Amino acid sequence: MAHAVKNLFPQAKVAIGPSIADGFYYDFDIDRAFTPEDLIAIENEMESIIKKNSPFLRREMTKDEAMSLFAEAGEIYKVELLQSIEAETVTVYDEDGFMDLCRGPHLPSTGRIAAVKLLSIAGAYWRGDEKNKMLQRIYGTAFNNPKDLKKYLDFLEEVKKRDHRRLGKELDLFSINEEVGPGLILWHPNGAMIRKTIEDFWRDEHQKAGYKLLYSPHIARLDVWKTSGHLDFYNENMFAPMEVEGTPYELKPMNCPFHIYIYKNSLRSYREFPIRYAELGTVYRFERSGVLHGLLRVRGFTQDDAHIFTREDQIEAEILQVLDFILFILRTFGFEQFETYLSTRPEKYVGSDEHWQKATTALEDALKAKGLSYNIDSGGGAFYGPKIDIKVKDSLGRAWQCSTIQVDFNLPERFNMTYRGSDGKEHRPIMVHRALMGSLERFFGVLVEHYAGAFPLWLAPVQVSVVTISEKHGEYAEKIASGLLQKGIRVELDADDEKVGNKIRKSTVKKIPYAIVVGDKEMEQNSLSLRKRNGENVGPFAIDELISFLCEEINLRR
Ligand code: ZN
Repeated sequence: MAHAVKNLFPQAKVAIGPSIADGFYYDFDIDRAFTPEDLIAIENEMESIIKKNSPFLRREMTKDEAMSLFAEAGEIYKVELLQSIEAETVTVYDEDGFMDLCRGPHLPSTGRIAAVKLLSIAGAYWRGDEKNKMLQRIYGTAFNNPKDLKKYLDFLEEVKKRDHRRLGKELDLFSINEEVGPGLILWHPNGAMIRKTIEDFWRDEHQKAGYKLLYSPHIARLDVWKTSGHLDFYNENMFAPMEVEGTPYELKPMNCPFHIYIYKNSLRSYREFPIRYAELGTVYRFERSGVLHGLLRVRGFTQDDAHIFTREDQIEAEILQVLDFILFILRTFGFEQFETYLSTRPEKYVGSDEHWQKATTALEDALKAKGLSYNIDSGGGAFYGPKIDIKVKDSLGRAWQCSTIQVDFNLPERFNMTYRGSDGKEHRPIMVHRALMGSLERFFGVLVEHYAGAFPLWLAPVQVSVVTISEKHGEYAEKIASGLLQKGIRVELDADDEKVGNKIRKSTVKKIPYAIVVGDKEMEQNSLSLRKRNGENVGPFAIDELISFLCEEINLRR
């Protein structure tokens, strides 16, 4: 691609061009922005380079030789790259006169490239630094055969269709308003209804699992974050402090300290353990505007957070219970495949070797007991304890980080947490941080893409639309709609003076799971059919049957 760009735009300077997960990119310094037409021309030029089947020749040379080679060609970025390389010798690849600095390896010749496609253009600062010059980046991908390329392009098309930012607008779920601030989510009625349904489910299940539900404030004195250590090791993710009556306060980046203060509010005995505190706690973290992305990377989000305080002898049973809970919750949302990671002790750590050993074994035994296959991220744990991370795989096979279970030996120490043991002495509790969904905003974004906006009945903001064939059916339709509403079913009545076909189409576009069409036949026979959003029909039902059919599907969260 770089060769093709140089052929068409000799004034362009080549900067850096690595391979990435699904393809490659190259950055160019050029006095104009590339256009979609340019991409087509570059792709055509690439095809003719491929046809020539010219070999990639590997040349080893000293760094100085390479520097004068690229300096002569006016390739200042290559010279700068070479200046930062420490090795004495470097490799340069020569393809029909086009030279590039590269470690290799390469294909033997250009003719081996079976399927290639340029995908997009973006601006990118040289070396990712906004103080440097903005370069033009071209993304592309290549495959072993045209069939695999086609498959990948279809996948990208599907990804685009399911983009939660696009569906969020189409289904009126949420928005981000620059006047309010980037990275801050406004939940619209439809999105808010889904969130409320998720929250209700979450709270009910936590109560059943023996958790106590908490609320905590959004700001706290800066001293809290000094004690917790966040000010030292998390400062760059925190917003600047604000001053209240001469005392600095800070927006909370985490919920943990508040739960600790609730724990410390009374003397604790070994008999009370384990203590499980859960909160849908909204936190604020500073992220650069350049990395913000819809619901997936934001500045304010709600963690489905919990802290478990246990004795040493309880840790294993506790981890097992959390793991069960995670799988139950994630499966309820339709996720069946998981990628699991166990992260062990890093070089720098706090806590005794014995504690680390016990906690890591407890995490690993729990994974084994659940039959989950897992990868070990050796040394990848936090300095304060080992952890389990679980990614879910969505309907397109993409993995998303959601759940985490982290053992913590640090905060109980820093906050001097104790309990009275059965021996009458003071002991330190072990603290476990855990989240199932991670962040409600992010999880919601993943759900939107996973379901492509077609939420299952229990989550759908509007569950049933009642559609009239003509004006004379309005009264009967209203009776049915209010009957459903009384049973807690979220219903929308469409009695507009419009063709019934249009009204059904509108219901389908909004991805409402069921439509009920009301006409003469339905009124006479007092029976109703449900039309699924995919066009299938269920029924007919008497009204009572219809309600219990819907309630069953909602309660089973199918
Ligand atoms: Zn925590």
